[in-house]
Amino acid sequence: MLARVRPAATPLWATYAAWLAPASLAARCGYATQANATALSFAEHGSPERVLRLQHTDLPATLGDHEVRIHLLAAPINPSDINTIEGKYPIAPELPGVPGHEGVGEVEAVGSKVTRMRPGDRVVPIEHGQGTWRTHGVFNELHWYKIPKDIPLGTAATMVINLPTAVKLLSDFVQLAEGDTLVQSGASSHVGRLVIQLAKSRGINTINLIRDRPERAEQERELRSLGATLVTTAAECRQALQAAGLPKPKLGLDCVSSASLQRDSAAACAKVLAPGGTLVVYGAMSQQPLTVPPGLLIFNDIRIRGFWLTGGFAKMKDGWRAKEQLVDHVCALFRTKVIRPVDVECLPLEQWEKALQRVASDDRTGKVLLTSFPPDEIRG
Ligand code: NAP
Repeated sequence: MLARVRPAATPLWATYAAWLAPASLAARCGYATQANATALSFAEHGSPERVLRLQHTDLPATLGDHEVRIHLLAAPINPSDINTIEGKYPIAPELPGVPGHEGVGEVEAVGSKVTRMRPGDRVVPIEHGQGTWRTHGVFNELHWYKIPKDIPLGTAATMVINLPTAVKLLSDFVQLAEGDTLVQSGASSHVGRLVIQLAKSRGINTINLIRDRPERAEQERELRSLGATLVTTAAECRQALQAAGLPKPKLGLDCVSSASLQRDSAAACAKVLAPGGTLVVYGAMSQQPLTVPPGLLIFNDIRIRGFWLTGGFAKMKDGWRAKEQLVDHVCALFRTKVIRPVDVECLPLEQWEKALQRVASDDRTGKVLLTSFPPDEIRG
């Protein structure tokens, strides 16, 4: 279980006593007191239900000069984590390995030459593949970044992948101005919800495609409350756009694909784009091929681009610095209330099978986090 860390009012004498306690002195001198860790791990690729195992290990009693021991407080289950376990993601840990690209933790002990953080700091991973689905781990200090403690745990646990992705989808492809329109598939996803909020803050209209399911009305209401201009389905998109009288979108964002006649999200986005518009493909939730009518490219000069956050940073000379700046930026977006706290469902690490079922369920109400904190504390 991811153990809980609760802030509490501490009398002065207790602060000094704690500072002088052997464990505290050891932590500040680079000696980590022995810790046990529980982790989900996989020794081969395959479906998570089949290959994941919960394991208990001891962590080293001493830390290397630049190592830090981190107590993981919460970690989301993202589509890329599932793909990594399945062996369908370009980056995978050495096996046996621990899944989890995103999360938030608290530093427990630091090596003698660590300067970027100290015990008690809140940190997020800025290097992919750190393996966040565990209670504790020993990591290289350069792979983690200190964040302010006033960011709620749920938002902190989901701030190094989806938030930067939403920011870059809106900034790196088409320069959108107030009054412009974008269309996106998978609008109910975490990324989709962030895109809606960022666009709303800049006065950009959003046409949001969701699946036609019994929960549709509830999802529509939620997305409208975040600032969605129009919520519709792939099949109804064109008529809905005409009825709303919005300008044709200059930007399309697709994370679904879905090569089926009535529910083809990528094609639905492409078909409503303004001539010369850009469709950015950043996910493939349906695991189906991308199909776009060729006439849209020939006669409407539609451009199709791909986006991969991790790959983009890896190509940059100082990618880690750019990632730190993006994390600072998303903290500011949260503080200025551009981004609302993320809705979450919380399950402890021991209940990982149930957590995976919740990820796949139709009535999921938020991002599924592996954590022992209750949702109201995590949400902030
Ligand atoms: P999420 O919150 O877990 O939501 C998953 C979304 O996928 C929901 O909108 C869900 O719709 C939809 N979905 C699931 N299965 C589907 C299917 N078979 N057909 C159509 N829609 C389906 O996801 P997330 O963490 O925001 O990630 C969203 C996408 O962005 C993923 O594809 C992820 O890999 C991608 N992503 C890419 C990058 C990058 O750098 N390229 C970075 C971050 C995320 P319902 O609500 O109807 O269930």
